[in-house]
Amino acid sequence: MINERYREDRERRRLGSLTVFSGPTHSGKTKKLEAEAERAQRQGRRMQRLADPTDPNRLLDQLDPAAELVTVDDAQQYDDRLIEVLNDLATIHRVDVVVAGWELDYTGRPAGPMPELMCAADFALKLDDGVCAQPGCRNLASRTQRFHAVNGTPERFLPVCRRHHTAEPRAVSFQEVWFDEPSGSLDLIIGCMFSGKTQELIRRLDQARYAGATIQAFKPALDDRYAIEAVASHREVRFPAIAVPDVDGLRAQVQDDTRVIGIDEAQFFGPEIVSLAEQLVDRGRHVMVAGLELDFLARPFGPMPLLAAYADRLTKLQASCQYPGCGSRQATRTQRLVDGAPAPAESPLVVIGGAATYQARCRHHHRIGLPSRPEPVSVVEESAEL
Ligand SMILES: [Zn+2]
Ligand SMILES: [Zn+2]
Repeated sequence: MINERYREDRERRRLGSLTVFSGPTHSGKTKKLEAEAERAQRQGRRMQRLADPTDPNRLLDQLDPAAELVTVDDAQQYDDRLIEVLNDLATIHRVDVVVAGWELDYTGRPAGPMPELMCAADFALKLDDGVCAQPGCRNLASRTQRFHAVNGTPERFLPVCRRHHTAEPRAVSFQEVWFDEPSGSLDLIIGCMFSGKTQELIRRLDQARYAGATIQAFKPALDDRYAIEAVASHREVRFPAIAVPDVDGLRAQVQDDTRVIGIDEAQFFGPEIVSLAEQLVDRGRHVMVAGLELDFLARPFGPMPLLAAYADRLTKLQASCQYPGCGSRQATRTQRLVDGAPAPAESPLVVIGGAATYQARCRHHHRIGLPSRPEPVSVVEESAEL
């Protein structure tokens, strides 16, 4: 009897979540995944490893209904259907899903569904503890280098920094050339509304300022909620910033002696923000970007998945779910409300000002409203149709 009640209670408390481990080769992604699986087994939770790279939908067919945690390794080899399958597992089947994979392939290109999975995840960890394989280099290894098989040495894949990465496979010998400038880096801070992204960006910019770095901060001009010419959080923490209309405007404002560049609300910029960030980093700049990775329908927002893939460091923040009575601190979705009701799918992507309000919600309390139907002209006409 007690066991039965315990089981029901446990069933009721099951939430379901999506955790994504990414990073270059040898960064320990699969080890992290296996550690989660082992922990689940230690806790007596039913664990299942799923794999079928030919068709992600077949993962659902394999699912043991009693499984409380499932793992999917090498997620980069699946197609984009994997995102919906894993979201369904976490949200509808209430399973804890743990995924590992390369977000960039060895040529440095975004790999399969990984960039969007990092956005859809409740927890996304980019493993960056690998040190560059180039002897003497102390840069963070965030890329995977492919080395040719030569004279009996088999083909190898090693983690290298972005400075020592080439899209083409190289011989096993390392580069003789040293670079004059230190490597720059791209830091990305993502999370839903009220998760504290802007506060975290400002904290890091302040740190750089105390260290004496020359800093410039930018934000898109359309966001004028609290301040013009400042990055400002919901809690009124501010940092001076230049409001720019678009990516070209941003590029034109970056000064030669600037070492640290902060960009807030990056989701509102066009896709060119990704190549601009990469160029600035390649020229030794430290670029810190913050933005909403999912829109109000929980779809990847603008350039954010690509920024997540190219970032050297990724910080995904969570908020507390504002759905009455939930209390989950795993809110990763932004709920748009119009007159207190969830906004329907056909409402515009960006609403500035007006009647819409926003809440942070967990994946289980994020709602999409029904499409608004035209009002019937008169009751008589409606019943006449029946
Ligand atoms: Zn290096
Ligand atoms: Zn909730």
